[in-house]
Amino acid sequence: MYKTYDVLIVGAGTAGSYAAYLMAKQGLSVALVERKRAEEVFKVTGDAIGKHHIEELTKSGLSISNDVFMIKYEGAELYSPDLSIKYFVAGEGYGLDIGKWAQWLINAANNSGADIIDNHTVSTPIIEGGFVKGVKASRRDGTQVELRAKVTVDASGATGVVRTKLPSQYRISEPLLPEDASYAYREIVEVDYSIPNPQNIRIYLDNNISPGGYWWFFPKSDRVANVGLGIWGRLVKENGLNPRINYEKYLASSPYVKGRKLLHTGGGIVPTRRPLASMVGPGIVAVGDAAVAVNPIHGGGIGPALLSSALASKAIIEALEKGDVSEAGLWRYNLDYLNAYGIKQAQLDVFRLMLQTLTNDQLNRGLRARILTEDEVLRMSISGNLDLSGGKKALMALRLLKVPDVARKLSLALRYMNEIKKIYINYPRDPSELNNWLAALVAKYNEYRLKLKLPLMTL
Ligand SMILES: Cc1cc2nc3c(=O)[nH]c(=O)nc-3n(C[C@H](O)[C@H](O)[C@H](O)COP(=O)(O)OP(=O)(O)OC[C@H]3O[C@@H](n4cnc5c(N)ncnc54)[C@H](O)[C@@H]3O)c2cc1C
Repeated sequence: MYKTYDVLIVGAGTAGSYAAYLMAKQGLSVALVERKRAEEVFKVTGDAIGKHHIEELTKSGLSISNDVFMIKYEGAELYSPDLSIKYFVAGEGYGLDIGKWAQWLINAANNSGADIIDNHTVSTPIIEGGFVKGVKASRRDGTQVELRAKVTVDASGATGVVRTKLPSQYRISEPLLPEDASYAYREIVEVDYSIPNPQNIRIYLDNNISPGGYWWFFPKSDRVANVGLGIWGRLVKENGLNPRINYEKYLASSPYVKGRKLLHTGGGIVPTRRPLASMVGPGIVAVGDAAVAVNPIHGGGIGPALLSSALASKAIIEALEKGDVSEAGLWRYNLDYLNAYGIKQAQLDVFRLMLQTLTNDQLNRGLRARILTEDEVLRMSISGNLDLSGGKKALMALRLLKVPDVARKLSLALRYMNEIKKIYINYPRDPSELNNWLAALVAKYNEYRLKLKLPLMTL
């Protein structure tokens, strides 16, 4: 028999463990439920995280054990498909030892008082009186159990095992469609040469190797690298593409992984879309990948997982104090997330859709013309905006003249990034207006998608 908790968190990845740590630290009774053994929690990722996320994390009072960091990065090299153009975008970050990272976060949750309930696979939410009251789960030995709480947090990763099982009138239940995801495969390899500039991560745009995505080479030392690729989910579903097969075809025998000794292999799905229409429902909240809190351009989700968990925890604590865990009682999480990151995420999603329609030839010509300078790429990835002053606008116009077809698409994306931002700024202050707001958002997206010749979205 399990007690009824204040908060029950499904999934002990970055998002779930951090939320458990934050809320248990505030004195709430918290259960962190995980299908794997706690010691075996491990996420297949590119293992890279921006320094600013780590700085935020330390503000929460957590002291980070140094052994989670394998390497410090100074920036990213971005390559055109024909490799003739290289951008260098400065920005500090780290390569994580992701296994140690997971264990460190689970321990932090445990030490702050959360109960770790591992070896439990959650199957469905328990709904009573319209509220989520916990989950049904099965233990390793097959026993079916019920775990109950005032608030349930879905932190189960991209599958969103709890929220997607809710009936469709709960807006939080919207599914992650293949066209809003990237399907990725990566290897950690030891190579037999000394990796030059291991302090730089490398991103390669190439629609043959990674259609609608990119392939990466993230050094972990001068001999070991995390190498992988992501393919737009739509092409995986419609054209039967497979990231592992592309890896074997294009990268496995390439000079990049010369002497390739496999240390670890694996894959996963990365959400690459605008935020969920709502990240909350009655008695339920979603965080991390389960809430599609990921950068739609580069798929970085470890930082947004931390951010979404911090904001969700604040909203849950407040809702419990007020004794109101209804959708309206938890609503502030939607607003806080949009302000902190979600609006930018939506704008980057608009940009992502445009990028996915560019051919290798257009990418080569666009990068060669340096339509966007390194500084502009950096600013856009930070703010989701390209607010160019008069002089810079004129310079850009000159650069655009050289590549009119790419220029048309870029201008279209920039215009709709602004339009979508305006809609998000008017995100409803409470749930009553959500359906109208969503209808306006979908209409605007469809206007844009029509111009890009992409299939239309439905409500
Ligand atoms: C190949 C790849 C490369 C990536 N590279 C990067 C990168 O370099 N940098 C970056 O920032 N992001 C990267 N990402 C994204 C990043 O890994 C995720 O955004 C982030 O790890 C999400 O954390 P999370 O806690 O939300 O989910 P997860 O880490 O997926 O955690 C979910 C947890 O829930 C558990 N769970 C699932 N289902 C159940 C169930 N039914 N019952 C109980 N428990 C369950 C899982 O076992 C898991 O422990 C990458 C992703 C992939 C797939």
